[in-house]
Amino acid sequence: MPTIGILGGGQLARMLALAGSPLGLRFLVVDSAEEACAAQVAPLLRADWRDFDALAEFARRIDVATFDFENVPADTAHWLTEHTRVFPNPRALATSQDRLAEKTLFRAVGLDTPDFAAVDSRDELAAAVRRIGTPSILKTRRLGYDGKGQFRLKSAADVDAAWDALGGAPSILEAFVPFQRELSVIAVRSQRGEFRTWPLTQNWHAEGILSASLAPAPDADELAPVAFAHARRIAEELDYVGTFALELFVRDGRLLGNEMAPRVHNSGHWTIEGAPASQFENHVRAVLGLPLGDTGALGFSVMLNWIGELPPAVPVLAEPRAHWHDYGKSPRPGRKVGHATLRAGDPAELRERLARIGAALGREAQVAPVLEVLDRVASAPSGSRPR
Ligand code: AMP
Repeated sequence: MPTIGILGGGQLARMLALAGSPLGLRFLVVDSAEEACAAQVAPLLRADWRDFDALAEFARRIDVATFDFENVPADTAHWLTEHTRVFPNPRALATSQDRLAEKTLFRAVGLDTPDFAAVDSRDELAAAVRRIGTPSILKTRRLGYDGKGQFRLKSAADVDAAWDALGGAPSILEAFVPFQRELSVIAVRSQRGEFRTWPLTQNWHAEGILSASLAPAPDADELAPVAFAHARRIAEELDYVGTFALELFVRDGRLLGNEMAPRVHNSGHWTIEGAPASQFENHVRAVLGLPLGDTGALGFSVMLNWIGELPPAVPVLAEPRAHWHDYGKSPRPGRKVGHATLRAGDPAELRERLARIGAALGREAQVAPVLEVLDRVASAPSGSRPR
């Protein structure tokens, strides 16, 4: 029975282990935190990622290593490749750890991005603001996620505040994109190069953190094949193995690449109940060289993220085809502590369930943008509905 080692013991590792256990798999998680929530469902090796003695023990005890976190140090990932099999490969990890390398790759494969400039000094920031203008966003090249390591510039007068806020770290300045919507591709590639995508997902963020996802994304018949082709080229370019996410903005009918995550992704959590094979199960299958599972959609799904604290579970549990996920983490502002997925056979039914849950939980604001889209889709002639 193979053992999959996971660097990072958060909710993604936890859901990977939960998806892999019906397949008879064992897991071993490395994390320096005793309270790592994956440790509630899988054995934990408590160690720092730079503790190479501990990593040697980790490598001895596993058959293949993977990640729940993309910011694992590059030398740790390289070291591991000399001691065990590692998927995705360290080059894929390194590219998506660096916003400049990532956006350069997007452009190289023909995916447009927001206008951007590399910024390594205050003077370069001032020059970039002159070229790109405002509003714009300064983002650290590394270690940024969920809106962290970002500063929004409203005018050229914000240059000093932005530079100081990010502590002078190597960054990129990006044009602020007044997008109409955000989409993500959740895709998986096997060791033999087989590539599959789940239906395109539409996402809503609040304060830089994912708040809700709807799948399949409505009105995406034309965009979906283009988005999938970009994801495929990126995966092939990186010789990627496993599940990954490509986050996109839609502006005036055009796709712009925002970022990729070299791992299972929050906007793919709906696949646990909303698809025959989830992003977690297919990641596990891919890293073990097993055949990939079916990535179709089982009806329509909405995922609501619980940030900071969990709402009461009972109204969700009382709802048919609603699924509750509590990650077993202690509440803290800005922290992802759980999610719920609602499913239905058609958009009108999903709309009704979502409105009921939103009201019962006092989460009307969180569900409002999703309801707005579902209203439109549910009232559209059935021939124009998403498939
Ligand atoms: P990121 O960590 O780069 O994915 O940013 C988090 C969220 O901030 C995105 O999902 C968007 O909602 C928003 N955002 C990031 N970059 C831009 C941009 N260039 N223009 C507009 N909104 C953005």
